[in-house]
Amino acid sequence: MSIPIARCVTDPATPADRLRDVTRTIDKAAARANRKAHEVTLIAVSKTQDAAAIRPLLDAGHRVFGENRVQEATAKWAELRADYDGVELHLVGQLQSNKAAQAVALFDAIHSVDRLSLVAALGKVAAQSGKHPACFIQVDLAGEPQKGGCPVPDLAELLVAARDAGLTVRGLMSVPPNGLEPAPWFALLAKIANDHGIPQLSMGMSSDYPIAVTLGATHVRVGTALFGPRI
Ligand SMILES: *Cc1c(COP(=O)(O)O)cnc(C)c1O
Repeated sequence: MSIPIARCVTDPATPADRLRDVTRTIDKAAARANRKAHEVTLIAVSKTQDAAAIRPLLDAGHRVFGENRVQEATAKWAELRADYDGVELHLVGQLQSNKAAQAVALFDAIHSVDRLSLVAALGKVAAQSGKHPACFIQVDLAGEPQKGGCPVPDLAELLVAARDAGLTVRGLMSVPPNGLEPAPWFALLAKIANDHGIPQLSMGMSSDYPIAVTLGATHVRVGTALFGPRI
């Protein structure tokens, strides 16, 4: 039996190399779509990566990171924020209402606002704490409730509730279905955002961020392409 070559050699790229490559890829995709690269924020999704794995990106000057678990992020980023100024943290994973206070304390942006009960919990915490994270409404475009996300027919009502609750709604977020061409889903999210006058779009992951940028992403959420495979 032969072993694939790729497994025999270690990947010589450092995290800083990968950051440069991803940034270049974003720049090129933006240029193709006649957009400015600075309109796109690269969120380095560091879920499951320990502090030691994250430090090289911080040392290379990157400051915008994403996590998907409140608990995991709290411990890691207390340590890292003590050592690096200007860190901006985005929550990209599903959020339980009973963790709203912890999430608002830790995160500068929440990409998974998707239901009335969560809107109510976040609104209450924001009012009490005076802290207003940027909110993205997660949209379930393909009828996949297990991923979270607000069904498209319920979006208008959720947006009204979010604004009434005092939340700062900046954008829409979505994760397209696995195994399908992502472009139509990105275009659909962009259209829905435009219809509602919502300026920002959180879309695109390691496998599809260039196409997301050409279709209007303002935030791409990239993990594997920066850190390597999650263990
Ligand atoms: C893990 C995760 C990402 C990053 O995924 P990669 O494929 O590793 O780039 C982006 N968005 C969400 C919501 C995630 O959970």
